[in-house]
Amino acid sequence: MSATAHSLQQISTGPAWPGVKDGSRFNAKGLAIEAKPAAENRLLAALTDRSREAFLECCEPVTLHAAEILCRSGEPIRYVYFPLDCCLLQMTGFDSGERLEVGMVGDEGMLGVSLLLGADVWPQLAQVQAPGTALRMGAAAFRRNCRGSVNLRQEMHRYINVLMSQLARAISCTHYHVVEARLARWLLMSRDRAHTSQIRLTHEALSELLGVRRAGVTRAANSLRRRRLIRYSRGHITIVDASGLEAAACSCYAADKHTYSSALGSSAAAAQ
Ligand SMILES: [Zn+2]
Repeated sequence: MSATAHSLQQISTGPAWPGVKDGSRFNAKGLAIEAKPAAENRLLAALTDRSREAFLECCEPVTLHAAEILCRSGEPIRYVYFPLDCCLLQMTGFDSGERLEVGMVGDEGMLGVSLLLGADVWPQLAQVQAPGTALRMGAAAFRRNCRGSVNLRQEMHRYINVLMSQLARAISCTHYHVVEARLARWLLMSRDRAHTSQIRLTHEALSELLGVRRAGVTRAANSLRRRRLIRYSRGHITIVDASGLEAAACSCYAADKHTYSSALGSSAAAAQ
Protein backbone atom coordinates (compact mmCIF):
# COMPACT_ATOMS: atom_id res chain seq x y z
CA MET A 1 0.00 0.00 0.00
CA SER A 2 1.42 3.41 -0.89
CA ALA A 3 1.73 6.18 1.68
CA THR A 4 -0.96 8.24 0.01
CA ALA A 5 -3.37 5.30 0.12
CA HIS A 6 -3.43 5.34 3.90
CA SER A 7 -6.05 7.40 5.61
CA LEU A 8 -4.86 10.19 7.83
CA GLN A 9 -4.66 9.19 11.44
CA GLN A 10 -4.78 11.46 14.43
CA ILE A 11 -2.50 11.17 17.40
CA SER A 12 -3.88 12.06 20.80
CA THR A 13 -3.37 15.66 21.80
CA GLY A 14 -0.90 16.34 24.57
CA PRO A 15 -0.62 19.30 26.92
CA ALA A 16 -0.25 22.81 25.53
CA TRP A 17 2.88 24.91 25.46
CA PRO A 18 3.56 26.51 28.80
CA GLY A 19 1.86 29.88 28.71
CA VAL A 20 -0.34 29.07 25.74
CA LYS A 21 -3.99 28.83 26.60
CA ASP A 22 -5.96 26.02 25.02
CA GLY A 23 -8.26 28.42 23.22
CA SER A 24 -5.38 30.14 21.47
CA ARG A 25 -3.54 27.11 20.08
CA PHE A 26 -2.74 26.76 16.45
CA ASN A 27 -4.70 24.19 14.57
CA ALA A 28 -4.64 23.00 10.99
CA LYS A 29 -7.65 25.12 10.15
CA GLY A 30 -6.05 28.21 11.61
CA LEU A 31 -2.93 27.75 9.53
CA ALA A 32 -4.93 27.62 6.33
CA ILE A 33 -4.70 31.41 6.13
CA GLU A 34 -1.50 30.94 4.19
CA ALA A 35 -1.19 28.62 1.21
CA LYS A 36 1.34 25.82 1.63
CA PRO A 37 3.37 24.22 -1.14
CA ALA A 38 2.88 20.60 -2.13
CA ALA A 39 4.35 18.74 0.82
CA GLU A 40 7.24 16.33 0.67
CA ASN A 41 10.07 15.42 2.96
CA ARG A 42 13.39 16.53 1.52
CA LEU A 43 15.33 13.64 3.02
CA LEU A 44 13.05 11.14 1.32
CA ALA A 45 12.88 13.17 -1.88
CA ALA A 46 16.66 12.82 -2.15
CA LEU A 47 16.51 9.02 -2.25
CA THR A 48 16.62 7.14 -5.50
CA ASP A 49 13.19 6.27 -6.91
CA ARG A 50 13.64 2.61 -5.96
CA SER A 51 14.67 3.33 -2.37
CA ARG A 52 11.97 5.94 -1.91
CA GLU A 53 9.17 3.74 -3.22
CA ALA A 54 10.21 0.85 -0.97
CA PHE A 55 10.45 3.20 1.99
CA LEU A 56 7.06 4.84 1.44
CA GLU A 57 5.39 1.43 1.35
CA CYS A 58 6.12 1.18 5.08
CA CYS A 59 5.03 4.73 5.99
CA GLU A 60 1.68 6.12 7.01
CA PRO A 61 0.69 9.79 7.05
CA VAL A 62 -0.39 11.19 10.42
CA THR A 63 -1.84 14.54 11.39
CA LEU A 64 0.08 16.18 14.21
CA HIS A 65 -1.54 18.85 16.36
CA ALA A 66 0.01 21.89 18.00
CA ALA A 67 1.59 21.18 21.39
CA GLU A 68 1.29 17.39 21.05
CA ILE A 69 4.05 15.56 22.83
CA LEU A 70 5.28 12.81 20.52
CA CYS A 71 7.73 11.24 22.95
CA ARG A 72 9.51 11.79 26.24
CA SER A 73 13.10 11.14 27.15
CA GLY A 74 13.64 7.49 28.09
CA GLU A 75 10.52 6.17 26.40
CA PRO A 76 10.93 3.36 23.84
CA ILE A 77 11.14 4.54 20.24
CA ARG A 78 8.06 3.08 18.59
CA TYR A 79 7.96 5.30 15.50
CA VAL A 80 10.13 7.63 13.47
CA TYR A 81 8.64 10.74 11.88
CA PHE A 82 9.35 12.51 8.59
CA PRO A 83 7.56 15.90 8.69
CA LEU A 84 5.91 17.12 5.51
CA ASP A 85 4.62 20.52 6.55
CA CYS A 86 4.82 20.57 10.34
CA CYS A 87 7.55 21.66 12.72
CA LEU A 88 8.74 19.57 15.69
CA LEU A 89 10.92 20.67 18.60
CA GLN A 90 13.31 18.51 20.59
CA MET A 91 13.93 19.63 24.15
CA THR A 92 16.09 18.65 27.06
CA GLY A 93 14.78 19.01 30.60
CA PHE A 94 16.19 19.46 34.06
CA ASP A 95 15.05 18.32 37.50
CA SER A 96 14.11 21.93 38.21
CA GLY A 97 11.48 21.74 35.47
CA GLU A 98 13.28 24.03 33.03
CA ARG A 99 13.47 22.98 29.40
CA LEU A 100 15.65 24.11 26.52
CA GLU A 101 15.16 23.52 22.82
CA VAL A 102 18.04 21.58 21.26
CA GLY A 103 16.63 20.80 17.84
CA MET A 104 13.97 21.82 15.34
CA VAL A 105 12.79 19.34 12.69
CA GLY A 106 10.71 19.99 9.61
CA ASP A 107 10.57 18.71 6.06
CA GLU A 108 14.37 18.89 5.87
CA GLY A 109 14.82 16.10 8.39
CA MET A 110 13.39 13.40 10.61
CA LEU A 111 12.72 12.55 14.22
CA GLY A 112 14.13 9.28 15.54
CA VAL A 113 17.54 9.08 13.92
CA SER A 114 18.88 7.67 17.21
CA LEU A 115 17.58 4.28 16.07
CA LEU A 116 20.36 4.21 13.49
CA LEU A 117 22.92 4.71 16.25
CA GLY A 118 21.73 1.67 18.14
CA ALA A 119 19.50 3.46 20.66
CA ASP A 120 16.01 2.16 21.35
CA VAL A 121 14.78 4.95 23.66
CA TRP A 122 14.18 8.63 22.94
CA PRO A 123 17.03 10.91 24.03
CA GLN A 124 14.79 13.99 24.40
CA LEU A 125 11.22 15.14 24.59
CA ALA A 126 9.71 16.01 21.21
CA GLN A 127 6.72 18.30 20.82
CA VAL A 128 4.79 19.70 17.87
CA GLN A 129 5.42 23.42 17.45
CA ALA A 130 3.52 23.96 14.19
CA PRO A 131 0.79 21.44 13.26
CA GLY A 132 0.60 19.58 10.01
CA THR A 133 1.26 16.20 8.45
CA ALA A 134 4.17 13.81 8.80
CA LEU A 135 4.99 10.36 7.51
CA ARG A 136 5.37 7.86 10.32
CA MET A 137 7.12 4.50 10.24
CA GLY A 138 7.41 1.81 12.90
CA ALA A 139 10.84 1.40 14.50
CA ALA A 140 11.31 -2.19 13.29
CA ALA A 141 10.37 -1.27 9.72
CA PHE A 142 12.79 1.67 9.80
CA ARG A 143 15.65 -0.55 10.94
CA ARG A 144 14.75 -3.12 8.30
CA ASN A 145 14.66 -0.51 5.54
CA CYS A 146 18.01 0.91 6.62
CA ARG A 147 19.60 -2.55 6.63
CA GLY A 148 18.24 -3.23 3.16
CA SER A 149 19.18 0.01 1.39
CA VAL A 150 22.69 1.38 1.03
CA ASN A 151 21.21 4.54 -0.48
CA LEU A 152 18.99 5.09 2.58
CA ARG A 153 21.82 4.45 5.04
CA GLN A 154 24.08 6.91 3.22
CA GLU A 155 21.37 9.55 3.31
CA MET A 156 20.77 8.99 7.02
CA HIS A 157 24.48 9.15 7.79
CA ARG A 158 24.79 12.44 5.93
CA TYR A 159 21.85 13.75 7.91
CA ILE A 160 23.40 12.68 11.24
CA ASN A 161 26.56 14.54 10.27
CA VAL A 162 24.50 17.65 9.52
CA LEU A 163 22.74 17.36 12.89
CA MET A 164 26.07 17.13 14.72
CA SER A 165 27.35 20.24 12.95
CA GLN A 166 24.16 22.15 13.65
CA LEU A 167 24.14 21.13 17.31
CA ALA A 168 27.71 22.33 17.77
CA ARG A 169 26.77 25.63 16.13
CA ALA A 170 23.69 25.96 18.33
CA ILE A 171 25.85 25.70 21.45
CA SER A 172 28.14 28.44 20.18
CA CYS A 173 25.12 30.54 19.20
CA THR A 174 23.68 30.37 22.70
CA HIS A 175 26.93 31.62 24.19
CA TYR A 176 27.99 34.31 21.75
CA HIS A 177 25.02 35.74 19.87
CA VAL A 178 22.58 38.31 21.20
CA VAL A 179 18.96 37.40 21.92
CA GLU A 180 17.51 39.57 19.13
CA ALA A 181 19.64 37.87 16.47
CA ARG A 182 18.88 34.44 17.92
CA LEU A 183 15.16 35.18 17.97
CA ALA A 184 15.29 36.28 14.32
CA ARG A 185 17.09 33.06 13.46
CA TRP A 186 14.58 30.96 15.41
CA LEU A 187 11.60 32.56 13.66
CA LEU A 188 13.15 31.98 10.23
CA MET A 189 13.93 28.35 11.05
CA SER A 190 10.33 27.82 12.14
CA ARG A 191 9.04 29.47 8.97
CA ASP A 192 11.26 27.32 6.77
CA ARG A 193 10.08 24.09 8.38
CA ALA A 194 6.37 24.82 8.82
CA HIS A 195 6.06 26.74 5.52
CA THR A 196 4.14 29.54 7.15
CA SER A 197 5.02 33.04 8.28
CA GLN A 198 2.45 32.74 11.06
CA ILE A 199 3.96 31.50 14.33
CA ARG A 200 2.00 30.92 17.50
CA LEU A 201 4.13 31.29 20.61
CA THR A 202 3.97 33.31 23.80
CA HIS A 203 6.95 35.19 25.23
CA GLU A 204 7.03 32.61 28.03
CA ALA A 205 7.39 29.77 25.55
CA LEU A 206 10.02 31.64 23.54
CA SER A 207 11.88 32.38 26.74
CA GLU A 208 11.98 28.69 27.54
CA LEU A 209 13.00 27.67 24.03
CA LEU A 210 15.82 30.18 23.79
CA GLY A 211 16.94 29.73 27.39
CA VAL A 212 16.75 33.44 28.26
CA ARG A 213 14.64 35.52 30.64
CA ARG A 214 11.24 36.60 29.45
CA ALA A 215 12.22 40.27 29.68
CA GLY A 216 15.02 39.63 27.20
CA VAL A 217 12.65 37.97 24.74
CA THR A 218 10.19 40.86 25.11
CA ARG A 219 12.91 43.43 24.38
CA ALA A 220 14.10 41.46 21.35
CA ALA A 221 10.58 40.97 19.97
CA ASN A 222 9.77 44.66 20.48
CA SER A 223 12.92 45.64 18.62
CA LEU A 224 12.10 43.38 15.67
CA ARG A 225 8.58 44.80 15.66
CA ARG A 226 9.82 48.41 15.71
CA ARG A 227 12.04 47.57 12.74
CA ARG A 228 8.88 46.37 10.95
CA LEU A 229 10.27 42.85 10.52
CA ILE A 230 7.53 41.11 12.50
CA ARG A 231 4.08 41.78 13.90
CA TYR A 232 3.29 40.49 17.33
CA SER A 233 -0.04 40.25 19.08
CA ARG A 234 -1.17 37.97 21.89
CA GLY A 235 1.21 35.17 21.17
CA HIS A 236 0.73 35.38 17.42
CA ILE A 237 3.88 36.36 15.51
CA THR A 238 3.81 37.19 11.80
CA ILE A 239 6.96 37.59 9.74
CA VAL A 240 6.29 40.62 7.53
CA ASP A 241 9.79 41.23 6.12
CA ALA A 242 11.63 37.94 5.65
CA SER A 243 14.64 39.53 3.94
CA GLY A 244 14.99 42.06 6.72
CA LEU A 245 14.66 39.32 9.32
CA GLU A 246 17.42 37.33 7.61
CA ALA A 247 19.64 40.39 7.80
CA ALA A 248 18.81 40.70 11.51
CA ALA A 249 19.47 37.02 12.24
CA CYS A 250 22.84 35.80 13.46
CA SER A 251 25.19 34.13 11.00
CA CYS A 252 24.14 30.70 12.27
CA TYR A 253 20.99 30.80 10.15
CA ALA A 254 22.84 31.02 6.84
CA ALA A 255 25.59 28.69 8.09
CA ASP A 256 23.07 25.95 8.98
CA LYS A 257 21.46 26.20 5.56
CA HIS A 258 24.85 25.98 3.89
CA THR A 259 25.79 22.92 5.98
CA TYR A 260 22.58 21.19 4.96
CA SER A 261 22.78 21.98 1.26
CA SER A 262 26.46 21.00 1.13
CA ALA A 263 25.88 17.63 2.76
CA LEU A 264 22.47 16.70 1.38
CA GLY A 265 21.91 18.89 -1.65
CA SER A 266 24.25 16.82 -3.78
CA SER A 267 22.39 13.61 -2.92
CA ALA A 268 19.11 15.27 -3.90
CA ALA A 269 20.53 16.17 -7.29
CA ALA A 270 21.96 12.67 -7.79
CA ALA A 271 18.58 11.08 -7.14
CA GLN A 272 16.90 13.01 -9.95
ZN1 LIG B 1 23.83 32.34 16.21
